[in-house]
Amino acid sequence: MLSQVVELIESKRRFAITSHIRPDGDSLGSSLGLFWLLRALDKEIEVVMRDPVPHAYQKLPGSELVRVTPRIDRPYDAVFVIECSDITRPGLIDLERQFVVNIDHHSTTALFGDINWIDSTASAVGEMIYNLCKALGVRVTREIAECVYTALITDTGSFHYSNTSERTFKVASELVRAGVKPAKVSQAVFANYPWSKIELLGEVLTTVKRDSSGRVAWLVQTLAMQERAAATDEDGDGFVNYPMSCGDVEACAFFKETAPGLYRVSLRSKCDVNVARIAERFGGGGHRNAAGCTFQGAWDEAERELVGHLVYAVEHRGENGTGALQLPPQQEIVPASEGRKPERDARP
Ligand code: 5GP
Ligand code: MN
Repeated sequence: MLSQVVELIESKRRFAITSHIRPDGDSLGSSLGLFWLLRALDKEIEVVMRDPVPHAYQKLPGSELVRVTPRIDRPYDAVFVIECSDITRPGLIDLERQFVVNIDHHSTTALFGDINWIDSTASAVGEMIYNLCKALGVRVTREIAECVYTALITDTGSFHYSNTSERTFKVASELVRAGVKPAKVSQAVFANYPWSKIELLGEVLTTVKRDSSGRVAWLVQTLAMQERAAATDEDGDGFVNYPMSCGDVEACAFFKETAPGLYRVSLRSKCDVNVARIAERFGGGGHRNAAGCTFQGAWDEAERELVGHLVYAVEHRGENGTGALQLPPQQEIVPASEGRKPERDARP
């Protein structure tokens, strides 16, 4: 809990900070926010990640200091693990040998740390870093503020999602007071894409389908599309949100082929449709309305399995407060609108 984290920081000196593979706005914003917070206390700190900082977050103060490595091999008094559902999420070899502080806002997170500070009411871990700043009596510098603000806007979808609370706005307001220019941060994160992303989006949107109820939509990005658009791995980030902007759509899956027969799946939902439970069934995780997993297998299978679960979850929304857990075997998916078929050359 928070008091243990405060005590640890006050009594120790040498820290590392890490977060999950393919870091996003909350994991990087919170990690770097914590970095600047510990810096203000004259601690020795390293931010260590398995994957490099995506383009969208390269303007975050301190992003150039992130050390990209597959192994955590230096001695630290403690390693802060930010926004991870379990100890394997950072993808760092030997992490379990360290004194681990687990800081997260996922309600389903495993208590894998030597200290666990979990606050599932926080809109983003960034909000928790802000609270930590206050608890330690550290002034919120512009660097801390910009990092934490980035965490807030990415995890709340610019204050659109249901995790946005009065407290989120209160923290955001304090961050603006500390020097954040909201338009500048939003521009850097949401309006600084390479053209390859736009070209890729054009292709991916042609694959969109929805089920006969119109409430479940899905779309796919193949390796061939990525190659044609000369797109990077991260260019497909956020594509899952486009079908969600339709009023009728309550759940969406975005399949990104990352190797032949391997799909990264992003799931999104509205209100009481729980997609975290579906992601967990496939070895992933996340939040009720935003989750992800990896699927290995043929495209037809990926589509049938994941979309089948989404359709079922929407039909049985809110049951036991958690949405669906069980899918009747061989549920038939009948698309109401047929998107363009992903091309033959990319099928495993
Ligand atoms: P995204 O679709 O943006 O990759 O992920 C949405 C949410 O699901 C994030 O909170 C992310 O941490 C979580 N998530 C995505 N993929 C995985 C996964 O493979 N495992 C776990 N535990 N969580 C995931
Ligand atoms: Mn988060």
